[in-house]
Amino acid sequence: MKPIKISHNSLIQTYVQYPIEMVKGSGSFVWDGTGKKYLDFYGGHAVAIIGHCPEKVSSAISKQSAALLFYSNIFHTKPAIELAKKLAQTLLPQEYQVYFANSGSEANETAIKMARKYTGKKHIISFKNSFHGRSITSLAVTGIDSYHQFSPNLDAYTTFAKLGDIESVQDAITGDTAAVICEPIQSIGGVKMAPKNFYKKLEKLCRKNKIVLIFDEVQTGLGRTGDFWFSKSIGVRPDIITTAKGMASGLPLSAVLIKNNISKTIKSGEHATTFGGGPTVCAASLATISIILKKGFLRNVKSKSRYLISKLLKIPQIKTVSGAGFLLGVHFKKPMPDMVKKCLQKGLIIGSSCDASTIRLMPPLTMSKKEIDLFLNIFTKILI
Ligand code: PLP
Repeated sequence: MKPIKISHNSLIQTYVQYPIEMVKGSGSFVWDGTGKKYLDFYGGHAVAIIGHCPEKVSSAISKQSAALLFYSNIFHTKPAIELAKKLAQTLLPQEYQVYFANSGSEANETAIKMARKYTGKKHIISFKNSFHGRSITSLAVTGIDSYHQFSPNLDAYTTFAKLGDIESVQDAITGDTAAVICEPIQSIGGVKMAPKNFYKKLEKLCRKNKIVLIFDEVQTGLGRTGDFWFSKSIGVRPDIITTAKGMASGLPLSAVLIKNNISKTIKSGEHATTFGGGPTVCAASLATISIILKKGFLRNVKSKSRYLISKLLKIPQIKTVSGAGFLLGVHFKKPMPDMVKKCLQKGLIIGSSCDASTIRLMPPLTMSKKEIDLFLNIFTKILI
């Protein structure tokens, strides 16, 4: 890896940044400033959901930005209306309404605010090991201790239950519980999930206690798991679903899908955003989602995922593979702290997790079988 010389010091280093400058992307690949090509199994942070620079999306952006790049939602714009309709149609259109925001954190903030408004209660139940974002409230419901230094009054507002343990949720309920927020597949936490019947039990428990059930599908939504919504694939109908990441193929956009009985309680002026749901991001999203919703597309993702998992499980150093579709956790028999770096050196981008024995794969859903074979080839050579 040829390190680039960092000549700027004006950018705050909140992230551990690799000394590589990315300059170009196409499909499953990106290129750095030296011309080196990388196969992207990290999918641009799970954002390049249909690959880098998909032509249909770029041309939708260029067309819409030439017509009306932006106006806030103080006026109606066609792309926002069409996108909201399309998203609601993926669930029960008569049951859900959509609110657009700009990031996963903001979508979760909105969900919590709506749940508090609807119930008139404050307390939230979340899960240990979950991640919900970096704003103050989304941090306060994030179940990974290392993120808690900036969360004031954590104990006053959040109780952390254990994913998969319904009794721990039951025990956490108080008279002031407004919502349960659940990241159904805990991605950064090491791609951990519960058996399917846990989520059904969770839904039942929330209904019985009139608690708003929020599913954070920021990562699991929009086809990432091989189904458009993970919740729907397991027969759960959350009161609120949040989503973001690949929604507009890289332009910042998130959505909160809210059941009508809850959304009805929000009066105008009680919540808003300047940028959320602008026409250009929504046009990019419509182009992205129309590809994901094409007949057979998600079936193909599932088939490619099965292929990838079966090959990974043959690698002796790997203990197991978790997750669904193209949100996969590869669990090694021992910690592999240098895996991401070693892969980068060989032109492969993968993701780390909070668990040193687990790496994450979130490739574009458009990743081909040939590219999966290329990945396996590079990956296995690194492990020798
Ligand atoms: N929720 C989940 C499950 C996430 O993975 C993330 C980001 O990685 C977020 C929320 C926060 O999203 P954002 O970084 O867009 O604020």
